[in-house]
Amino acid sequence: MKILRLKTAVVEGNFDWTFVRIETDEGIRGLGECFFAPGLTSILRSLEPLLIGEDPRDIHRLFRKLQLATSGAGSIAGIVYNAISGIEAALWDVSGQWLGVPIYRLLGGKFRDRIRIYADCHGGEALESLDEVLRSRAASWAPKTNPYFARDYFGEPTEEHPSSPEDYRRQAVKQRAEGYTALKFDLDVPGTAGSDPHNRVLNNRSIDHMVSLIGAVYDAVGKDTDIAVDCHWRYNAADIIKVARELEPFRLLWLEDPVPPNNTAALKELSAKVRVPIATGENLFLFEGFQEIIAQHALSIVTPDLQKVGGLAVAQAIAQFADVHGMPVAPHNISSPVGTLAAAHFCAATPNFLALEFHASDVPFWNDLVEGFPKPIVQNGFISLPETPGLGVTLNEDVARRYARKGEPFFE
Ligand code: MG
Repeated sequence: MKILRLKTAVVEGNFDWTFVRIETDEGIRGLGECFFAPGLTSILRSLEPLLIGEDPRDIHRLFRKLQLATSGAGSIAGIVYNAISGIEAALWDVSGQWLGVPIYRLLGGKFRDRIRIYADCHGGEALESLDEVLRSRAASWAPKTNPYFARDYFGEPTEEHPSSPEDYRRQAVKQRAEGYTALKFDLDVPGTAGSDPHNRVLNNRSIDHMVSLIGAVYDAVGKDTDIAVDCHWRYNAADIIKVARELEPFRLLWLEDPVPPNNTAALKELSAKVRVPIATGENLFLFEGFQEIIAQHALSIVTPDLQKVGGLAVAQAIAQFADVHGMPVAPHNISSPVGTLAAAHFCAATPNFLALEFHASDVPFWNDLVEGFPKPIVQNGFISLPETPGLGVTLNEDVARRYARKGEPFFE
């Protein structure tokens, strides 16, 4: 079998969902998804000539070929791996279809039939779509009744629409009713900013507000629901230790990205000083990106993003190393059903899997983007993987085209 071409398309969900299609001379087409990045489809087009004429079943060798070809440009990590991750997933899809088996079989078989999904609840109910440099945009699919607040994700904090404990409580009850047994909320939301947005410092008023938000969630659903919280790398170690200690009575599932992810010393300090599991990993690349923080036990829960970390095989290596060190894996995921299901195959084949993120409950066409899978894809807080070969779904191109990003090729 030979690769004939690589095609891309970008769909505007709550993030840009970038699809890679590998087409072969035997008519098999593999589908993968990449985490968004500036210039991503341009990188994918640059990689295409390296793949044409190659046998798509040589997944590890082709990964190595792409790795070597791009390392001279300086990419020992970084957004080239967003592109490579999508390609690698598409190659697994090709091999699975060719052999007539699901991807999880190729990854060593499954530990479980149902993949536990946790719902990302953001900061209450604000519907938001972000472009590839995290600028907020008005989504074409957003309900007209929902007010759109232009807010750059890492821009100046605003107190204009502060999040309230009632918003958090309402969202927790709603998602729990959908069947999710684990929920994640943002702590770095309007109303919790410190007095200076640049110095990573929190004041007591902000800390009290954070505690009131999570307290409302715990009071509403905490008896039978695991609660995780996310800080998006914003704070200094000393202040987030104060927050974490206040949150200890809520027995959190984890505290995510409290400090910048490459600060192993700060993560280690936090992990040693608080009785809340520390999670990180969504913006780390390759096994090497995780090696030291896992070996030093600077974290408790490992959260690679399968559309960015380097692919399914890289994620397996990380998960095996984490397992040796007694740490569960809870993949970060903001993708369409294509990336979510690729991650679900990995989760099925990973013994130390904890829960997989679902970030798109606000996107009305999320389920409609793919065909060949029972809907809704997430049922009662779980995804059940069928025996369908490869990834198990194809893209519904009519739906994808309706929400395609303007100015980007659509599988052309
Ligand atoms: Mg996160």
